[in-house]
Formats: sequence, structure tokens, C-alpha cells
Amino acid sequence: MKITSVDIIRVFPKADRVNANIAVGGVPWCPVVVRINTDEGISGYGEIGVAYGNAQNAGYGMGIDFAKCIIGLDPLNSEEIWSRLHRLTFWGMGGGGIVFAGISGIDIALWYIKGKYFNAPVYELLGGKTNDKLRAYASQLQFDWGKESHSLIEPEEYANATKKAMKDGFTALKVDPIVFYLEGKWMGCNTRGALTNTQINTALRRGQAMKDVGGDELDIIIELHSLTDTTTSILLGKELEKIGCYYMEEATQPLNPKLFREISNKVNIPQATGERVYSRWGYRQFMEDRSISIIQPDLGNTGGITEGKKICDMAEVYDMAVQIHVCGGPIATAAALQLEAVIPNFLIHELHASALIDDNINLCKYNYEAKNGYFDVPDLPGIGQELTDEALEMSEIITIK
Ligand code: MG
Repeated sequence: MKITSVDIIRVFPKADRVNANIAVGGVPWCPVVVRINTDEGISGYGEIGVAYGNAQNAGYGMGIDFAKCIIGLDPLNSEEIWSRLHRLTFWGMGGGGIVFAGISGIDIALWYIKGKYFNAPVYELLGGKTNDKLRAYASQLQFDWGKESHSLIEPEEYANATKKAMKDGFTALKVDPIVFYLEGKWMGCNTRGALTNTQINTALRRGQAMKDVGGDELDIIIELHSLTDTTTSILLGKELEKIGCYYMEEATQPLNPKLFREISNKVNIPQATGERVYSRWGYRQFMEDRSISIIQPDLGNTGGITEGKKICDMAEVYDMAVQIHVCGGPIATAAALQLEAVIPNFLIHELHASALIDDNINLCKYNYEAKNGYFDVPDLPGIGQELTDEALEMSEIITIK
């Protein structure tokens, strides 16, 4: 089998239906997808994990550049292709988010082809199911929970969102209690240095309102999006200990593991990070320092399924649990479910609030939903997810042959 062409696809959800609140960094939500095509008529989809933030042109361009490196190769040799993109593209070994997002999209598509070729879901090719049902948490409740997304301000609104998520069967949720300041502005807080007393008290009142709804049955993950500095996270974390907190996410900047080590030394709440940490090389120091307890690799930017599996296995050696970061389109979700089914150190699946919005759901053929807070693992060949004809029609596509 040979790779004959690669489509790099920028999917524009219908502009009039895109909710501005799922735009991060002022850029509309826009998944970047690759489809690898072969001379045996088998195609596979992968996602370059830059649907949000200000890197979509870069991710699209990286897909084009990397596609040129794989035409004519055997798609079943995914390990060799990964290594080729990493070692022989010059910038690959230097790493970074865009390089690894490009490798990720191609790698996921190659695993999809492998699954179709052997008529098996990817989880079977990776070692089979360790986890039959995947516990999930409702993620980013500061956007509310449901089909409509908007910024929540008052603690009562956070309590109501908690009730909605729990009614849907979730016993775990994640919230960023500081990202919408009192005026409802995204990242309205001071993102350098210490938070003010008002900001800390606002965060605590929101967290307490959620805990009052859920009680001891509810696991709350506190997301900080690296907005806080180390000292402030320690102050906040000590207060959160009184409320009860499952774990804290991105409590400081993601490129300096020693800062997480400092927080872990002083706060009695597990620390997590990883959506902006790429490849085994990126995770190495976090593991050697035992800076965090939970890793959060994103398969769309950390190097795909090939690299994600290796990182998760490394994490087990260091007694770390895994929560795959899932914040892309439905193809990223489908890839995550396959790997989560396999790894023994799986902790919980992330179901982002944006995944409930029809505009995202309608991009793809299948809608994998949590039932009573748990996901089943799809059994279709490969990762079992592809763009609809309608989504392809509203996309910008470039084909490399
Ligand atoms: Mg996060």
C-alpha cells in the first residue's frame, strides 16, 4: 500500500452559528484535519490540534509541509513515518506545538488507515481493552453546560451549571473559576503576578457554590489555564484544600516543571498539566521531578497516537495517571477514546462544553456521547470518525499529491 495524496482541510463551522465564547484568543473555532489517501482506496482522518488559539494558519501550513514528506510511503509503517517527520525535517527535533501538531494529525490518520486495513479498532491494535467504560467529566463549566455557551459570573450561575451537568449523569466536572472576571470578560483578571483579594474570593465563592450543589459525591477539577503565577496558585490552592478539589490544572506556566514541583510541595491537591507539553522529551522533566500527579497529553499536538501511547507508558513508571486533553473537533475525541481504552493508568475522559454544541457535532458522521457520565469505546475500524460531506463542502482544502 502506498500513500497517494493528502488533503489538508480547514473546517469552518457555519459563521452565523459559531458561538463567540468557544473562540479562544479572539480566533473562531476552526478544526484543522488531514485525510491521507492510498492506492488501495483506504483513507484515514487525523486532526492537527489547533482548532482554538492563534495558530490555525501555522497548523494548516505544517500539514501541507509534512504531507509532501510522506507521498509514496507505506502508511502501515507509522513508526518509521513518525521518526522521519521528527528527525529528517530539521525543525522536527526542535519540537514545539506546531511541529508536533503536524506530526499528530498525520499519525492519527495513519492509525486510522491501519485499523481499516486490518478491520479492527485502533484499541485492539494497541493491545486491547483495559477499560471497558470510560468515566468522563463535564469540562469548562464557566461556559455553562448544555447547547448554549455563555460566560458565567455569579456563584449561583456556577451552581446551576453544576446541577445541569449532574443531571446529565456526571459526578466530576472542571471549571476555571477565574477566567471570567466580574464583568464577564474572558481572561479579565490580571494574568501576571498575584491575583487580587477580590479575584481570589470570587474564585473561592464560585468553587464553594459548586461544591454545595454536589457535596462529597462530586469531584471538582480546578482549571487555571496558566493564568496564575506560582505564588498565587499556592495561596489559592491552600484555600481550595478546604473546599475539596480532585486536582488542579495548569496552575502555572507549562514550560518550567520546577514551578509545578514548588506548588506540589506546598499544596495538598494533585497537580496536572500537559495540553501545552509536547512529546516524550517535553514530559521527561515533569516525570523525573515528579512535578505533577496527572499528565494531560493532547493527541492532536503531542505527537499523535504513537507518541501518546509512549508518554502514557512512561507516566506509569513514575506513578502518574492520565487524563487525555480533549478540546478539538470530534476526530480528536474519537482518537482519545481509542487510547484511553487501552492504558492501565487512565483516570478520566474530558468532555469539553464545546463538544455539546451542534456546530461541532454536525462536522462529523458519528456522535459519541457520554451516558450517565461514562463513554463506551467505539468498535468501528480505525478510530471510527470522519467528516461529513456538508463539513467538507464548507472547508478550505488543499491536496498534496
Ligand atoms: Mg486546560
